[in-house]
Amino acid sequence: MTSLRLLTEPSSLCSSTFLPFNPLYKTLIKPTTKPYPKLSPIRSVLQYNRKPELAGDTPRVVVITSGKGGVGKTTTTANVGLSLARLGFSVVAIDADVGLRNLDLLLGLENRVNYTVVEVLNGDCRLDQALVRDKRWSNFELLCISKPRSKLPLGFGGKALVWLVDALKDRQEGCPDFILIDCPAGIDAGFITAITPANEAVLVTTPDITALRDADRVTGLLECDGIRDIKMIVNRVRTDLIRGEDMMSVLDVQEMLGLALLGVIPEDSEVIRSTNRGFPLVLNKPPTLAGLAFEQAAWRLVEQDSMKAVMVEEEPKKRGFFSFFGGAAICQLKCCVHKMPTTPDVRSTNVHILLECLYSSWVNGDPYFYQHQFSRIWKQAISI
Ligand code: ADP
Ligand code: MG
Repeated sequence: MTSLRLLTEPSSLCSSTFLPFNPLYKTLIKPTTKPYPKLSPIRSVLQYNRKPELAGDTPRVVVITSGKGGVGKTTTTANVGLSLARLGFSVVAIDADVGLRNLDLLLGLENRVNYTVVEVLNGDCRLDQALVRDKRWSNFELLCISKPRSKLPLGFGGKALVWLVDALKDRQEGCPDFILIDCPAGIDAGFITAITPANEAVLVTTPDITALRDADRVTGLLECDGIRDIKMIVNRVRTDLIRGEDMMSVLDVQEMLGLALLGVIPEDSEVIRSTNRGFPLVLNKPPTLAGLAFEQAAWRLVEQDSMKAVMVEEEPKKRGFFSFFGGAAICQLKCCVHKMPTTPDVRSTNVHILLECLYSSWVNGDPYFYQHQFSRIWKQAISI
């Protein structure tokens, strides 16, 4: 809905002509007597007004890995992959989780997988027959290594995957912009195979000590393999637990792993719902907090950008000038922006996302989103 239109029709929102007449834009960037320490969080709020610039050579071969299982690698591959497709990039997602594949389920494509890479390598089918086009975005294709619960043929390893990536580059349709590899859990042969063709990595972790320990080990192995461009996504973040000091903050995670931050994804029951429906979260209408966070991560991946974990101080509610446009909530939001950033933490992530929701709902004049979703998301954002 809202962000979808914005992402697919960037030209409809020409920043130079549109933004100066946008009251929210004015409230966000109007110079004040008290200058903001840094403007980067605010600038990125307005990112939907342009198309992201693809950094680096294509295809960008990105492995999504973690070490520990169940932290959200497949969820990240599906959602970041479809966000990239929506941004107009061609994407091939390879499910390298041999035997326990589930990317096809998350994408709702399980009935369309007729051939896998094993059959391609055996000469039983062509590569394009094994590529499954997404139902919604034709520039997103899925490639599975093998049938569920099957074992790989002896000798299938990193070299086979490198051959596959080369074959994808040489396709008649043209080389894809992104090849995402959904890595299996663990650090054994499957992991080594999955990382071999990659030149960059997205490390998914949750803020708990077991996942972090595995993530640290995996970082070392990736570096040994020559993958230096490693960014992390911190998934399943619960700000109520961070506030109660029952969960590590994103800053703690960053300090422990020393990696650039690609995104912070909140714990969201919508993720589980969308997994079960085979309908990736980023396609949800209206958008959810976790969906927007995945979209932002995709945006940063394109531009090889990273984010900072920052904290926002909240000020008491004020009424007055902004009451015509969302009342006290907007006023409070503006106060948050004024104070941004002060102390590093996860807080601004939600405010950041909230700003984007508010901004996109406003430019689209979407009353449904505004009335029903805004208050829900706002409550989450300020309850940190
Ligand atoms: P992995 O591929 O690392 O094994 P998955 O992506 O399959 O992990 O996710 C494992 C489970 O965690 C799934 O049931 C998924 O729905 C759930 N999950 C992942 N991310 C989130 C989140 N941000 N909020 C809630 N549930 C999540
Ligand atoms: Mg998985």
